[in-house]
Amino acid sequence: MTNIKRVREITIEVEKVRVVSNLKKQKIICEICSFTTDFISLNSATQVFQINEEYIAQLARKNIVHIKIENEEILICLKSLMEAKE
Ligand SMILES: [Zn+2]
Repeated sequence: MTNIKRVREITIEVEKVRVVSNLKKQKIICEICSFTTDFISLNSATQVFQINEEYIAQLARKNIVHIKIENEEILICLKSLMEAKE
């Protein structure tokens, strides 16, 4: 791997972390993770990770991404989503 490519990957990674840390998050107990994790809205998830709702639904059905419904809003377990994207 060239250094330039590596630097670019790190930059993208840092940018993603920056965007994720600015998201409106809610601390909720994720039954699948079995501890309190950050949940983000479905809208934020599709924007930040540039994936569509259908793809999230597919991952959720396979239990790769954890979802939760709170006050009629679909929330996504951020930890599971980050791991699914790797
Ligand atoms: Zn989870």
